Amino acid sequence: MEPKTVFVVGAGPAGLFAARKIAAAGHHVSIFNRDIRPGGLAEYGIYPVKHHMKSGLRKQFTKILSMPNVDYYGNIAVSEQSPLTISALAEWRPDAVVFAVGAQGTKKLGMAGEDSRGVYSAKDFVYHYNGLPPFSTQDFSTGRRVAIIGMGNVMVDIARWLLIDQPGEKPEEVAVIARRGPFEVKFDNKEFDEVEAFLDRKLFRGELARVAEPLKAVGQDIAEVQEKTFPWLKSEAAPPHPGKLTFRFLSSPTAIVPSSSGRIERVKVAENILVFSGDSTKPKPSGRETELPFDTLIFAIGDVADPSLGLPYAKNSYVTNPDTSDPNRAAYEVFDPASGKPLEGIYVVGWARKASEGLVGKARFDAEHGCDHVLKYLEGKPKKVSLLSAEILRELSARENAIVSKDQVIRLQQAEAQKGALVNNPEFRFPTNAEMLEAIEVFEPAH
Ligand SMILES: Cc1cc2nc3c(=O)[nH]c(=O)nc-3n(C[C@H](O)[C@H](O)[C@H](O)COP(=O)(O)OP(=O)(O)OC[C@H]3O[C@@H](n4cnc5c(N)ncnc54)[C@H](O)[C@@H]3O)c2cc1C
Repeated sequence: MEPKTVFVVGAGPAGLFAARKIAAAGHHVSIFNRDIRPGGLAEYGIYPVKHHMKSGLRKQFTKILSMPNVDYYGNIAVSEQSPLTISALAEWRPDAVVFAVGAQGTKKLGMAGEDSRGVYSAKDFVYHYNGLPPFSTQDFSTGRRVAIIGMGNVMVDIARWLLIDQPGEKPEEVAVIARRGPFEVKFDNKEFDEVEAFLDRKLFRGELARVAEPLKAVGQDIAEVQEKTFPWLKSEAAPPHPGKLTFRFLSSPTAIVPSSSGRIERVKVAENILVFSGDSTKPKPSGRETELPFDTLIFAIGDVADPSLGLPYAKNSYVTNPDTSDPNRAAYEVFDPASGKPLEGIYVVGWARKASEGLVGKARFDAEHGCDHVLKYLEGKPKKVSLLSAEILRELSARENAIVSKDQVIRLQQAEAQKGALVNNPEFRFPTNAEMLEAIEVFEPAH
């Protein structure tokens, strides 16, 4: 079969493993990535001290980018607000386009005070401490009493950062606020092991006693919490100073009350009961409200697809083909509800398809599985006269300031490793795009 040209938008794990699959089948792949560095959340989400995991993934990504039929254009966002839009991409006549842009939209709860200072989305906060521009240099100051909404692994990462690794003063309390109860935690025990020493056992037992009655109503017995979800309760150790980790169950935030300075001062929560919903439980407001004092609040409730990308969008997601006669095609091919037709050759994979779902392995599987369909689609189509690499570069140069190639990514990695060795930080990053671009320009490898 004649090699075709496929554009991949996004170079997180999903985009890179998609690129590998398509390039390995002999097609030419051009990757367009918003960030200068490839890797997405594997680079800017995975916890900073997980060096082994991060460097292992980085090696795999470098190998993918080194394939001769893969081009990389970093520092290039595709969206309705960017110089490069989806329709501009289409004019370059790719045979197919795979969108792997992750979940860049923020889930807004629409509550009063949500825009107060000191209120952050977990994604932005995590981008900040992992050094992704522009978040890296923005104000994500935290105070003495931090609330994190949500009970998943991202909550644990953030608690770990605040209580252990954040430079400077540590908070007195990090409180996890969850709409359901202690049996509905979503984090992995291995992750919670990292912060369990901070869990204030005494306060936790008090919280269990507070919610014992509503839990009983759905057959949940607080005597089983230790055995089922909080094995750390076996130890009675008091949390180290400074910092304690507490939980507030059966509570949904309803409003944020700022101080006169505009920073969050309190959060109003609706107290919930639990009711059965199929095999599981769901929260229902009990009618009671409480106010809790916090100077920082971080929403760790998952993200949504970014509507500004320009793909058909509904219910926080890009729309995919509803034709259920071929469930795989239906799941990955983008669909335009306005025309009632699929967008031929346009696919979506990874967290762009299912926001905030699963680890790198799952994003990889999703991308590779989705690309089985891309490859099948390409088999049956005549080749289009797509723009060649040099023409793409020319077109991009006319639109954007600085395009970063795959060779320049390697120079950047070398420059950061060199600087990291000097400052004894293996995860050292230049904090702004300007500094990264300068480092690429001036880097001299040591002899
Ligand atoms: C805080 C946190 C911690 C995590 N820790 C772990 C862990 O320890 N282990 C693990 O296995 N998994 C972990 N994960 C999950 C893992 O990061 C994801 O499964 C995976 O990164 C999803 O891959 P993706 O490629 O779909 O999206 P992303 O990784 O988000 O990649 C999206 C890519 O698209 C680019 N992009 C975005 N918008 C545009 C645009 N408009 N135009 C062009 N490019 C664009 C971005 O620059 C980025 O490169 C963690 C996730 C989070 C949030």
